[in-house]
Amino acid sequence: MPKAKTYFKSISIARPDIGPLEKKYINEALNSGWISGIGPMVSRFERMFADFIGVRHGVAVANGTAALHLALMALGIGPGDEVIVPAFTFAATVNSVIHCGAKPVLVDASLCDWNMDPEKIKRAISKKTKAIIIVHLYGIPARLKEILEIARQRKIFLIEDAAEAHGALWGKKRTGSVGNIGCFSFFGNKIITTGEGGMCVTNSRNLYEKMKIIYSHGSKSHKLIYYYHPMIGHNFRMTNIQAALGLAQLSRINSFLKIRARHEDLYRRLLKNVPGIKFSPKPGSVTTVDWMHSILVDHPKVARNDVLKGLKEKNIESRPFFYPIHKMPPYTGYISRARDKFPVAEYLARTGINLPSSTCLSAGDISRVAEAVKEIIDGR
Ligand SMILES: *Cc1c(COP(=O)(O)O)cnc(C)c1O
Repeated sequence: MPKAKTYFKSISIARPDIGPLEKKYINEALNSGWISGIGPMVSRFERMFADFIGVRHGVAVANGTAALHLALMALGIGPGDEVIVPAFTFAATVNSVIHCGAKPVLVDASLCDWNMDPEKIKRAISKKTKAIIIVHLYGIPARLKEILEIARQRKIFLIEDAAEAHGALWGKKRTGSVGNIGCFSFFGNKIITTGEGGMCVTNSRNLYEKMKIIYSHGSKSHKLIYYYHPMIGHNFRMTNIQAALGLAQLSRINSFLKIRARHEDLYRRLLKNVPGIKFSPKPGSVTTVDWMHSILVDHPKVARNDVLKGLKEKNIESRPFFYPIHKMPPYTGYISRARDKFPVAEYLARTGINLPSSTCLSAGDISRVAEAVKEIIDGR
């Protein structure tokens, strides 16, 4: 029976959408001989991405983690400093702080947007706090108004980890354009991809110039002076080949965002009356993007892991939410005060599932996933 056959076709969690334009640009890059971290497509990608975000400068880097590391270094953050980060995020947010020799201070999420709670940020600030890294998790912009106010009042830097929020809006501003530096990732499962890749964006000429030195071995060429290193830097550069892929992807981003929004609507419609299923928050003051299609399974008889397992049996890939940072061995030492609790991060991590999200998915694929979730829950 053909129906049974299509049922078992596997649906992957986040297939990248690579078309003829990507292949054309990559071939152009290869044919040009510019294949490393310098080249015309890198500069074009930096310009075009900065324009898309609505900022003056972009620095294309090797990956999103390097973008965070570079941002922290450019802001002069190092040993003795504290940086406020979410307890509910991808580990790279926290790792970048540790790689700089600074101390991450974890803050719990809030239920209304799954992002750091501004009140809890206030309580976590100490004399050593130099920066806050807010994460616009799963495409939901954080409460920038309150957080920006806190950063200004306390004179601390604001870094936006917008690795999951390309194109999201806070009022009329894109996420990533509001803080001192915005950091993006172009990993294969992100809204646009360069394979591996990332970008730092900023309106500050000074920070931009610092980042340009740090990200290329700490070197600065001038006229006939080469190999002069005014500081110890890294090699964080993005290659021209990656930038070629990025340029093609960026030219398609508006269509990607529309398709993702349509998929989110479809998931919501199909799962609306399924008991125990909750959707990601869509705060009225912001425009979210649908990086993943995130649901919570909060049901008296069905555990989240039952749904993960059930989907796997039906050949559908899904992912649990991020594991809470404070519950993993390398990070337990960073919980400074024993009274610190992270109940919201723990609740989200326990109940959350990301359903397949890709612009390559058809409406039929989405229906099949929703139908599968419904069957698993109804079967209990
Ligand atoms: C993906 C991601 C990163 C890291 O990006 P890489 O390109 O994988 O290094 C950082 N922060 C968040 C929130 C992410 O989702």
